Amino acid sequence: MATRLRPSSKRCAVIGGSGFLGRHLVEQLVARGYSVSVFDMRQSYELQGVTFHLGDLCDKQALLSALQGVSLVFHCASPAPASDDRALFQRVNVDGTRTVLQACREAGVQKLVLTSSASVVFEGRDIKDGKEDLPYAKKPIDCYTETKIQQEKLVLDACDKEKGFLTVAIRPHGIFGPRDPQLVPTLVEMARGGKMKFIIGDGSNLVDFTFVENVVHGHILAAELLRPESPLCGQAYHITNDEPVRFWDFMSQVLVGLGYDAPRYHLPYWLVYGLALLLWLLALLLRPVLRLQPTFTPMRVALAGTHHYYSCSRAKRDMGYKPLVGLQEAIVRTVESYPHLRRGA
Ligand code: NAD
Repeated sequence: MATRLRPSSKRCAVIGGSGFLGRHLVEQLVARGYSVSVFDMRQSYELQGVTFHLGDLCDKQALLSALQGVSLVFHCASPAPASDDRALFQRVNVDGTRTVLQACREAGVQKLVLTSSASVVFEGRDIKDGKEDLPYAKKPIDCYTETKIQQEKLVLDACDKEKGFLTVAIRPHGIFGPRDPQLVPTLVEMARGGKMKFIIGDGSNLVDFTFVENVVHGHILAAELLRPESPLCGQAYHITNDEPVRFWDFMSQVLVGLGYDAPRYHLPYWLVYGLALLLWLLALLLRPVLRLQPTFTPMRVALAGTHHYYSCSRAKRDMGYKPLVGLQEAIVRTVESYPHLRRGA
């Protein structure tokens, strides 16, 4: 008969631990003396103190074997936002999160920290210093965000002090840093394709970009401070660099740091948004005969052309959160970590 391990407070699991954020989180947890089980569909590295369990988080039995003896779970798995596969987002982010919750309860897990997203309140219009009490977006900007909203609600509603199962959600925004497979590589690909010449709007819109180590710090603080008597139970927390920056200044700094030209010609925001909307509608109409996946989407235009930055005051108050790495240092370290993406490399 299989024996059930007693949950240990220094044993945790990271669902999605092979991903960009997940791996940084795992490395920091190991450095802090945790033993870590990674549950993911793939294994992207090896690290002492870490065991890998390969599987789909929609499979409860597979999850249960990874959660043996674990008291703390981080759930940072999701399909990539760029996809438009609604069924996949629903299956993984919503149905799969229900399965994660069931598996946690059955395995005797005591704390679950979800990686949500600040975009759960974003509808494509300006947000300045947004607090966590902003309502969830009624018209989420894409199906990824729609399912992140449902996922966050499921996890926060599952917080049950009486049953000893505590939950909290971290809402990062614009995570960047070494090994990110999305932001910098996509930017460089666009620059190499001659598509980074234009600024959408007047270029003054402020946005949060958050260094991955600060996001990790927020997750670990939340996990360690999540107790029945703490205000964190069942709450969501913005975690950013707390230094909103002009979107186009950030992009330009990364591009120039890697040897590319900064964008300089301005295009009116509504013109670009309208074109992206038309393209998206065309892709929708043609879907029965031709599967187009435009990268130039209304969501991307809104993300590039509006203000959207968020207040971390709740995280400061309840967790003593303060970013560990300032934005300028974070940009320099990120640029230095991509020598293979430099112009001419
Ligand atoms: P990532 O794609 O690098 O990592 C996600 C990991 O989840 C991958 O390793 C993938 O294999 C795994 N995964 C996906 N579906 C799975 C499934 N069905 N079963 C098991 N594993 C599965 O993504 P990331 O950028 O590290 O994002 C991590 C989390 O942070 C996500 O929840 C995302 O929504 C959230 N987030 C990211 C950003 C950002 O800017 N990157 C911003 C806000 C929120």
